[in-house]
Amino acid sequence: MSDAVAGFFAPWAVFAAVGVLHLVLPARRLAGYARHERTGDVLQYRVNGLLIFVVTLAVWCALCMTGLMPWDWLWQQRWPSALGALVLGLAASAATVLGAPTSGRGLLAELYLGRRENPQPFGGRADAKMYLYLAGAVLLELNVLSFAAHHWDAFRDDPSPGIALYVVLMSWFVCDYLIFERVHLYTYDLFAERVGFKLIWGCLFWYPYFYAVGLWAVADLANPDAPAWLLVVAAVVFFGGWVLARGANLQKHRFKREPDRAFLGIAPKALSDGEREVLVSGFWGVSRHVNYLGEIAMGVGLALALGRPSMLAPWLYPLYYVALLVPRERADDRRCAAKYGPLWDRYRAQVRWRIVPRIY
Ligand code: NDP
Repeated sequence: MSDAVAGFFAPWAVFAAVGVLHLVLPARRLAGYARHERTGDVLQYRVNGLLIFVVTLAVWCALCMTGLMPWDWLWQQRWPSALGALVLGLAASAATVLGAPTSGRGLLAELYLGRRENPQPFGGRADAKMYLYLAGAVLLELNVLSFAAHHWDAFRDDPSPGIALYVVLMSWFVCDYLIFERVHLYTYDLFAERVGFKLIWGCLFWYPYFYAVGLWAVADLANPDAPAWLLVVAAVVFFGGWVLARGANLQKHRFKREPDRAFLGIAPKALSDGEREVLVSGFWGVSRHVNYLGEIAMGVGLALALGRPSMLAPWLYPLYYVALLVPRERADDRRCAAKYGPLWDRYRAQVRWRIVPRIY
């Protein structure tokens, strides 16, 4: 088999391995937040992403250390492997959507947004959405390590410290998701979206390849000799964003599960209509989606870390976040307005800013 053919199928192999590991390794059993579309029962999940991540990384390291695969093999095969992931993402999206009964919203809309809400195959042992996010996260990490390995190999005498920082920050981003995988059970895509091209192609192709676009563009370039202060700024912006995103998500997660318990010393103040409540203290009193501001800041930190602020490619990542999260905030706002009615109007009046306090 030629290297390019192996490269094409490499993401298929990684996704298959993640799927098998997810099914056979022990997992925490957790009640989620989304409900079964027919019965209305709260969905149950098996969560073992962190364990799978560690095992996959260990296997990858073992393959490289024993010389069976060069450390930068995924870099060498980045084009065929990205193509393999793209093709698989398209095929899996079409098969998943067309294999489900129509919900009558038009074929194109259904292909993009999906038909089924929360498929849980293998007798409920796996959840399609959680698997897809996990598979994408694992391959993203392998790509990042392999792209960086290429840089360190090519510029042994003078590698870029910014690339080392980028690897630390992106690995933090991936590990953070896996450590708090249970919190993701309470997010918009889990309870409000269906499984179509957006999610499947997004997780199998876009997430593991586009998220590494900055490193993809600079791994082959020499050390830009970025000043140390720029790398410090990059780390501060990234971790500042992480505090906003993770803090807001954990505060909401705590509030949904234990509405009266404080979070990091922040008392849970809420607006109520007698039946339902929305949080107005802490992160959720700063803006209505300060978590999105945090995600964008993390993207900016990653772009800056590469030490080439005047180059376009690293900025594509945070720009993509703006393009993703601004409409998503609007869609979530409409959903919440429909769900909470006048209570949401009171929340909007009390917390005026959508994402960026005093600006937007
Ligand atoms: P949120 O976590 O903001 O969830 C929105 C939901 O939270 C609303 O629909 C509503 O649901 C509830 N809610 C909103 N405001 C309040 C409030 N004041 N009090 C109580 N409940 C409230 O959004 P997402 O699910 O979109 O995002 C989750 C995380 O994932 C974010 O950090 C986001 O940035 C991140 N993300 C990351 C992406 C990536 O590629 N890295 C992509 C997209 C998102 P309910 O009906 O339950 O009340």
